[in-house]
Amino acid sequence: MDYLAHLNPPQREGVENLEGPTMIIAGAGSGKTRVLTYRIAHLIRSKDVDPFKILALTFTNKAAKEMRERIEKVVGTDARNLWMGTFHSVFSRILRAESDKLGYPSNFTIYDTDDSKSLIKNIVREMGLDEKLYKANVVYNRISGAKNNLISWQNYISNPVYISDDEQAQKPKMGAIYKEYVQRCFRAGAMDFDDLLFNTNILFRDHLDVLNKYQQRFQYVMIDEFQDTNISQYLITKRLASVHQNICVVGDDAQSIYAFRGANIQNILNFEKDYPDLSVIKLEQNYRSTQNIVNAANSVIVKNSAQLKKSVWTENDHGEKVHLIKATSDNEEGRLVASSIFEDRSNKKLENKDFAILYRTNSQSRSMEEALRKMNIPYRIFGGLSFYQRREIKDLLAYLRFTINQNDEQSFRRIINLPKRGIGGTSVDKIMVAAFENERPLWDVLNNIQNFLPGRAANAVQNFVTLIKSFRIKLEREDAFETASFIAKQSGLLKELYDDKTIEGLNRYENVQELLNAIKEFVDSTESEDKSLEAFIADVALLTDADNQDPNDTNYVNMMTIHSAKGLEFKHVYIVGMEEDLFPSQMMLNSRADLEEERRLFYVALTRAMEKVTLTYALSRYRFGRLKSCEPSRFIEEIDPEFLKVDRKFNSSEPMGSMNNGSSNSLYARNLVAKRKATTPKVPPGKKLHTPSADFKPSDTRSLDTGMRVEHPKFGFGKVVKMDVDGANRKATIEFELFGEKTLLLTFAKLRIL
Ligand code: ATP
Ligand code: MG
Repeated sequence: MDYLAHLNPPQREGVENLEGPTMIIAGAGSGKTRVLTYRIAHLIRSKDVDPFKILALTFTNKAAKEMRERIEKVVGTDARNLWMGTFHSVFSRILRAESDKLGYPSNFTIYDTDDSKSLIKNIVREMGLDEKLYKANVVYNRISGAKNNLISWQNYISNPVYISDDEQAQKPKMGAIYKEYVQRCFRAGAMDFDDLLFNTNILFRDHLDVLNKYQQRFQYVMIDEFQDTNISQYLITKRLASVHQNICVVGDDAQSIYAFRGANIQNILNFEKDYPDLSVIKLEQNYRSTQNIVNAANSVIVKNSAQLKKSVWTENDHGEKVHLIKATSDNEEGRLVASSIFEDRSNKKLENKDFAILYRTNSQSRSMEEALRKMNIPYRIFGGLSFYQRREIKDLLAYLRFTINQNDEQSFRRIINLPKRGIGGTSVDKIMVAAFENERPLWDVLNNIQNFLPGRAANAVQNFVTLIKSFRIKLEREDAFETASFIAKQSGLLKELYDDKTIEGLNRYENVQELLNAIKEFVDSTESEDKSLEAFIADVALLTDADNQDPNDTNYVNMMTIHSAKGLEFKHVYIVGMEEDLFPSQMMLNSRADLEEERRLFYVALTRAMEKVTLTYALSRYRFGRLKSCEPSRFIEEIDPEFLKVDRKFNSSEPMGSMNNGSSNSLYARNLVAKRKATTPKVPPGKKLHTPSADFKPSDTRSLDTGMRVEHPKFGFGKVVKMDVDGANRKATIEFELFGEKTLLLTFAKLRIL
């Protein structure tokens, strides 16, 4: 294949300019990923570079897989030797090889977010702290933020950054929890996701011989989606590339959507400083989308003040304008989207896989799913509760993990009384305390349990230990499938599920069988050299939401959050739930920077489409178990009207009145709604969200002070109880008559002072 012929001149430069640092900052759909792919093919085929010396970092495993397949088409199976994958997967591989330098076992466990949060919960409880104040979620985010900025617990305790003074005063034990968390993970032989990067940094900082080895090895380093790397990732690659200096990064600042996880646009600016002899390549021609889509997206993103100057244009057809559909309720929104897909599919001879439905948050998929099911349109959800997060799957995985690493505290807690062995929470706590106080590994305590627990409980634990030992014998002798099947049976897990004859139980049983199938497939695959259970588990721990799709089975309408749609493209894209407080998200209205991140997210969504974009919004929606009236998103107005048109055909047919009794008819939906937690303001029965007074006009809030009475367009009347200044932002805490206390940012809140 003459791949160079499929590139325009600047793209070609990106492929052929192999030596020295290169940065390609270019717009969406301009072929950045294509350039990286061909560049790697070119290195191997024309320059004879050993694939083993090429490191290519992508954002999802799926992206890595696709790239590898394309490269394989040009260079053959040599492509398999590339060091290519996500930051987490590539560096966990290096950490496993070098784990002894950090005092970790090479079969360390990777804690997923659930494991981390439940460990934090335990710690907070054990320290006797207020669980409501130290919410696991919040603590987890703070620790994660610190790690991604390379702040160890020692540094954190002496200088608590990434937390406001207010919060620090409220939660003085944050540092102590961080410390305990790190030590517990270490003792359990476990790393969380952030540790995979944090510890790689420590490894390269403290072990120059190791750093040197990898610096020599990786002659060429490449990063896709560079705008979403955080400092920790940036430092690792900078260190690695510092000998050969052949580093090529591609990205688009307008698509940076992970600032909330610590990604920093500063990396792009630093890059220019760090590599003064940098070649900068601009790609401006978009090959993906029609002119109307490109122009609509451009008209939105110019509203952001913080962005690098570049223009994006296309030679593609004008195509259709961006369609806008209004629905009365979220259920009607689902129906309109499904009908529109149904019609375009037949009229334009499209397939299911040509369509994508994108939304801001996972929970929005429910009404879409229901409508698609009713019209018999097959769909696939990326992300959400993925297969590997289901309870029964996590249960078996915990057994497998504990068989590999007997100090893995979180797996131990999960399985010690599953199926029931009469070992309760108190015994488990005693075991953990014994390990902690005697500074002994968990497994050591379990093996000497009679010293720590009274008779019956000790016997039960001893039986458990014997069971695990029998699993370990299998592990040492057999492949992943034999070992896992043995464990599934002997642990009693399979039997327990088999005995449960409810539909749920049957499903769970099938899911566990499905996991065993996956392990069998792994063992049979020619791609896996190491067929041990350790190798399988190491892979599974790194699966991300976007990876849960079987690429051979793709004729489905794609449904996913906008975050997981990054880098992908579809012929027709529906962006649903275009409403204030949903998109932009209510949680992102606190500062201009947050709002700009939401706008970039919208830009990413628009630019996924090749031929047609449809935006939809509903006038009312169930959120957190309550019917809520909604306003169209401000982002709709931001699109230049020249590129937007209201879709008359698929517009709301329901009379407005129906929204008041517009609860969903289906039992499924009602159950789902009932399960959701009520965290938005509760609207008392018989009352609605406030309708602003006829003379409502926002006042100048610079004079606002405690004790004043105000009117808010949605929350109604209330009294200011507290004023705060947080950096450049002023906040008011208001006790609303109907909605209780709320803290609002005065830059955005529309308030009428009474
Ligand atoms: P994103 O910013 O969304 O990640 P990108 O810049 O990585 O986009 P690609 O995904 O590489 O863009 O390319 C977008 C589309 O344009 C793909 O379908 C690709 O095959 C096609 N394309 C890129 N360059 C060319 C070209 N020179 N000729 C024809 N098609 C091209
Ligand atoms: Mg790309």
